[in-house]
Amino acid sequence: MDTLYLVIPCYNEEEVLPETSKRLLEKMEGLIERQKISENSRIVFVDDGSKDKTWELISALHQENPLCSGVKLARNRGHQNALLAGLMTVKEHCDMAISLDADLQDDIDVIDQFVEKYYEGCDVVYGVRSARETDTFFKRTTAEGFYKVMKSLGVDIVNNHADYRLLSKRALEGLAEFKEVNLFLRGIVPLIGYKSAVVTYERHERFAGESKYPLKKMLSFAFDGITSFSVKPIQMITSLGVLIFAVGMLYLLYAVIALIAGWSLAVWTPVFISLWVIGGLQLAAIGLVGQYVGKAYMETKHRPRFIIETFLNK
Ligand code: UDP
Ligand code: MG
Repeated sequence: MDTLYLVIPCYNEEEVLPETSKRLLEKMEGLIERQKISENSRIVFVDDGSKDKTWELISALHQENPLCSGVKLARNRGHQNALLAGLMTVKEHCDMAISLDADLQDDIDVIDQFVEKYYEGCDVVYGVRSARETDTFFKRTTAEGFYKVMKSLGVDIVNNHADYRLLSKRALEGLAEFKEVNLFLRGIVPLIGYKSAVVTYERHERFAGESKYPLKKMLSFAFDGITSFSVKPIQMITSLGVLIFAVGMLYLLYAVIALIAGWSLAVWTPVFISLWVIGGLQLAAIGLVGQYVGKAYMETKHRPRFIIETFLNK
């Protein structure tokens, strides 16, 4: 039997923690009883620099039940960093880790399926929301639009998958190779590789407390996702510049022919041509500089160039 660690980032979650811990303990005890996971398994709450009683609650839980553990960050670093901190802390101790939110919006009954998939040989199991009925119309459409934009920019991302997923120990080790500071985990995980599976579930509403992701944070998160994974926007600028330059050149050609043939030309012709030729050149040049900046940017991430799955060698 393998050891499962649940990793739960918590920021000001005193309202949900008592209920969350109760439900998760039931789940874990059930899994241990049915011998699906080892009794060394743990629920790890990561306190992301909360200002309320979150840490007191976590330490009390740890005192009461050895299944509950806690990690406290020195200050608030945001959901993605808190999650990574938790995963990196537990990776030495577990065979698999599942990350989930403290509000249990993600159905915890699919943990059984996650674990099954793991035993079937998957290193990554993505939790995917089947319906978004509990989300507001606004959140649903913006989220769907976001996944479309990411896909069209060439980013490998799983539709409607947030951060509810299982990672095996070696997938966690793979994740540790990604040293980037602007964290967008759902973009990084597909880059690790290994065999993966998808498990669908229905997302519930938050049962207490309020969302720690206001619109502003959501937008900056989405922007982070795009700019951390794609240099396509820069390429688009280059193409646009080339296009504008080409229009200017075509008009220049037309003007020369017109001059030779003796056709009449509008008085603003030279202005139009110089505007489009120079404007297009400038835009293309900026885009070109951007391409180098983009390359340098990707280099600074020091992403692993490969992760080896097996090495057969007699
Ligand atoms: N969270 C965190 N640090 C933050 C903000 C949020 O650790 O700075 C945690 C939060 O406690 C929760 C998870 O991230 O466990 C997801 O947050 P929330 O449920 O508020 O987001 P939503 O479901 O509304 O997108
Ligand atoms: Mg939530």
